[in-house]
Amino acid sequence: MPVNNLVAMEKDEREKHEEFWGRFNDAPPGWREVTEQEMGPRLFRFCVVKHEFRQVRPPEPPSAEPSWAYKPYVQAYLHFWPDGTGYAVSWDSQAAKVRWYMFGCDHAYRELSQAECCKRGIYHAGYSYHVTKCSKCGDIGGYDSGD
Ligand SMILES: [Zn+2]
Repeated sequence: MPVNNLVAMEKDEREKHEEFWGRFNDAPPGWREVTEQEMGPRLFRFCVVKHEFRQVRPPEPPSAEPSWAYKPYVQAYLHFWPDGTGYAVSWDSQAAKVRWYMFGCDHAYRELSQAECCKRGIYHAGYSYHVTKCSKCGDIGGYDSGD
């Protein structure tokens, strides 16, 4: 599957994408800055399925009154993963450092047993195969631990 750029999407697909993930100046749902140590181990877990450049206006904290005070936009490349999450990378020229962000669900996976998978019709390869389901968004993933 080719990596999709937003400008290359057809109108319907782009509208659906923007309805869920927001537009050029919006922080996508679940936008949060993470440290390099948090980001590093997650970087290569999936192939990127879509990417997009944005100038994100940092969201207000939930308890704050909306403010029109100037806040610098975060210029970032957003990379979308197939599990409904993604990461963004930005160059903070004032601090002279790369900043990392994650967005989408902050998954809380729970392992499903082989019996649960069988009952629900979810593929389970057995042995060292693990199937997990996120209790927040319902994403189901599978992987082979090899042991
Ligand atoms: Zn989730």
